Amino acid sequence: MAVYSAPVIDKHGGWLGIVVVMHDISELIRLERIRKDFVANVSHELRTPVTSIRGFSETLMDGAIHDQEAAMQFLDIIHNESGRLEMLIEDLLDLSKIEKEGYTIRLQTVRVEDVIGRSISSVSGRLKNREMTIRSVCPPDLFVMADPERLVQVLVNLLSNAVSYSKPGTHIKVTATESAGMASISVADQGIGIPAEELPRLFERFYRVDRARSRDSGGTGLGLSIVKHIMELHNGTISVESEPGKGSTFTINIPLSHQ
Ligand code: ADP
Repeated sequence: MAVYSAPVIDKHGGWLGIVVVMHDISELIRLERIRKDFVANVSHELRTPVTSIRGFSETLMDGAIHDQEAAMQFLDIIHNESGRLEMLIEDLLDLSKIEKEGYTIRLQTVRVEDVIGRSISSVSGRLKNREMTIRSVCPPDLFVMADPERLVQVLVNLLSNAVSYSKPGTHIKVTATESAGMASISVADQGIGIPAEELPRLFERFYRVDRARSRDSGGTGLGLSIVKHIMELHNGTISVESEPGKGSTFTINIPLSHQ
């Protein structure tokens, strides 16, 4: 709370009273904290791969380049870390674009079955060496108002998390249903699950339950916050239910198209 006060004096210099203005600045403080945390997080996330790239390239220049096996290993690390940087920059640019005031998406009638099919194909390359499968159930006549590319982006994000945070040999199920003017699409995995106390912060930028695991799976920590924004732009919602050790189900709700 910020408090300002000033005396009120009449034209003869007589004391009339005092004016006190109380201004609730807790929201401003909260926003400033979020901004500072964001800058600190971005700096940290950028610094980690850059340090690694710099370190391994110096080691190569110092002579490791002549040991072919070591050189290949270091180049592989440099290649992976620069890939991480690229993903992080892409996610940051995407987030800043969709968060900008006035940013709109072009909604059109989209068949849900097509979007689910495209999203599953996009992650299918990661399934084979993990012996995982994805099954989907969707009525063929389910249509929503969406930007098809953004809706695919949402589902690819949820599916790719489901793959990353599950053990090999488990299954993922995508189910689409309709109720009360909305389509509901859920992505259910049999993965590691998320403790109940972590759920409220899951959609915050850079929030991760297990930072090391997220990094290993190539995550940037921005995926779910991008997903949440995209759902808001669609006048839709996202929710999650999870049980540690059993799995997680992420559900998006999106307005139907009555074409
Ligand atoms: P990341 O790039 O780290 O995956 P996200 O924003 O997509 O970032 O997800 C945030 C965090 O939520 C992840 O780091 C992970 O801890 C948790 N998470 C997301 N999806 C799942 C899931 N299907 N199962 C278990 N944990 C998940």
